[in-house]
Amino acid sequence: MAFNEAGRSWYQAEIQAIRAAGLFKDERLICSPQSAEIEVEFPAGAAVRKCINICANNYLGLSSHPAVIRAAHAGLDARGYGMSSVRFICGTQDIHRQLEKRLSEFLGTEDTVLFPSCMDANAGFFEACLTERDVAIADRLVHASIVDGMRLSKAIQDSYKHSDMGHLEEKLQEHQDKRFRMIVTDGVFSMDGDLARLDEIVSLAEKYDAMVFLDDSHATGFIGKTGRGTHERCGVYGRIDAITTTLGKALGGASGGCVSGRRELVEMCRQRARPFLFSNTVAPVIVAGALQVLDLISASTERRDKLEWNAAYWRGLLTEAGFDIKAGESPIVPVMLYNAKLAQDFARDLFTEGIYAVGFFFPVVPKGQARIRTQLSAAHEKHHLDTAMAAFRKVGTKYGILGLGRKELIEKFGM
Ligand SMILES: *Cc1c(COP(=O)(O)O)cnc(C)c1O
Repeated sequence: MAFNEAGRSWYQAEIQAIRAAGLFKDERLICSPQSAEIEVEFPAGAAVRKCINICANNYLGLSSHPAVIRAAHAGLDARGYGMSSVRFICGTQDIHRQLEKRLSEFLGTEDTVLFPSCMDANAGFFEACLTERDVAIADRLVHASIVDGMRLSKAIQDSYKHSDMGHLEEKLQEHQDKRFRMIVTDGVFSMDGDLARLDEIVSLAEKYDAMVFLDDSHATGFIGKTGRGTHERCGVYGRIDAITTTLGKALGGASGGCVSGRRELVEMCRQRARPFLFSNTVAPVIVAGALQVLDLISASTERRDKLEWNAAYWRGLLTEAGFDIKAGESPIVPVMLYNAKLAQDFARDLFTEGIYAVGFFFPVVPKGQARIRTQLSAAHEKHHLDTAMAAFRKVGTKYGILGLGRKELIEKFGM
């Protein structure tokens, strides 16, 4: 069938089904730089209004930091706007290599290679580094881009129950006949905000001759005493074979990602990873900005310390008000509602109160696990969080959910 009337109506029916299931994702137009306070036009055409953003990955508040913007401007002037090439043809500048070197120092690894995004790093890594003789054993809650990356490789794929070390050990025993065993995990899991048990994972890897792959996108820059990531927090800094991470979250929030780790694994990515070979180089302006970000966060832990304080304060406020939150220590704080429609209604009412947060529901989280995922930033001041809490209380009172636990919420609203 061509894209004729029948073809079009098939797609229209699919889109309608997404709407009918309550799963349609609207975009809200932000008419300001990314920050703790943003200006939003929503719905499209409505008057632009100010609100507090509590759902960005702008963990360190560097997305619009004056020093980063200045450095990006200087980089634009010194190295131009675009490279019009992939890396290995004529897309590598001195600053790309500088950034890779700085990332290796920061992450405690031997070498690093940049990718257009962390999604691309994950899409390229497994195919480049594993073959059909090898197995990748992944935590069941790893990021979608890792799932895709493993699918694109020839390696055998297996998984273990989320953070279940007993189950991981069984899998490692089961796969002793494979050549390489690679344990695959996120550092901080994006939906629940919990940390991988990386110290135990590294011990198991040593016991069963396995490698460890860590995607630290939600940790690089702020988890651990000096913000190096989950490996620092768990006392296994320098002992991870491969780390992927993003420049699109704490490290300035523009775009770009990398694979960092053992020299030979990184070299295999340079030689074989398809998103590295066949997609354009990271723009010089972003590289210049990211170098400045690394200067800022290497010089002082002030920002990650403030973020830690904000996260603890916000968790305290939510708990005190009687919300059902996922316990943890990261700046990802999910407010559990379980019912998808309630999550959407709650987010819409928050927006009316000037708070920008988004409802998450299937397929982003499992069915019956709907939530508002709040995320803290070093750009938040205490007054932002107090204002946000007043709105959460007001909307929470409207739906009569304050003080209700999981069981009562599901009884009242369904899953
Ligand atoms: C955000 C994220 C990615 C994707 O990063 P991009 O650089 O935006 O492609 C990959 N993995 C994890 C765990 C993430 O949270």
